[in-house]
Amino acid sequence: VDPGLRERLRRGAAGRVVALTGAGVSAESGIPTFRGPEGYWTVGSKVYHPQEMATYAAFSRMPREVWRWYLYRRSVCRAATPNAAHVAIVALEHALADRFTLVTQNVDGLHPRAGSSAARTCQIHGNIDFLRCHRRCHDQLHPVPVDPSLRTVDAPLEDADFARLVCPRCVGPARPHVLWFDEAYEEELFRSESAIAAVDDCRLLLVVGTSGSTSLPLHLVGIAMRNEALIVDVDIDDGPFARAAVSSGGCWLRGPAGEHVPELVEVLAG
Ligand SMILES: [Zn+2]
Repeated sequence: VDPGLRERLRRGAAGRVVALTGAGVSAESGIPTFRGPEGYWTVGSKVYHPQEMATYAAFSRMPREVWRWYLYRRSVCRAATPNAAHVAIVALEHALADRFTLVTQNVDGLHPRAGSSAARTCQIHGNIDFLRCHRRCHDQLHPVPVDPSLRTVDAPLEDADFARLVCPRCVGPARPHVLWFDEAYEEELFRSESAIAAVDDCRLLLVVGTSGSTSLPLHLVGIAMRNEALIVDVDIDDGPFARAAVSSGGCWLRGPAGEHVPELVEVLAG
């Protein structure tokens, strides 16, 4: 971190700070994005793409297969461990306390498992470790009550396990607590308004490992640009957020999150 950036980071950290994280943070823990081939899923003779599986429509039509896909993905997430970037973000929260908000697109649960608090974390796409009532008799989240040990792609979903995937209140079907492609953001389930309010109020936005392919993160970075907050993007690849950071007077730190985020946090928490 060069001296000029160091000084601007310190000034930014005197106000409110938001970290916006995406799949790049978890890639170093070995978790694929599941948006590419690693997320393809075969049912009978048909191969589904993640954008078809991760939908309300698919769940309504074939809940058991969608659950099997999510239980496989969850087992991969649970076999992974938080990396240096997750740990550094927890240290930043401890240093800044109520001046810090984490907004994550990741559903893998690695931020909470590293120690990021529920109070200061907006999991805007949900968390694969939880389920909720499909009929929405209530919105409370419940831990997925199925063994999280590593499953193979073709592991069957046993009847006894499928029978556990119900709403504890109405005993109707339960669904994974994730935002699907054919659904909209909402505050009650995903704290999307809280995420917007936090970014609108921040002087420093750290964008980490996110390509800018979903709508709310694009909106959040737009708000920070309009407010002339300092935007620092950490990413292996050049993308819209790297360009937004550079064009608005911030910077793009090219490289892995596990390397750059601890360096940034050392300056911000110091
Ligand atoms: Zn219910």
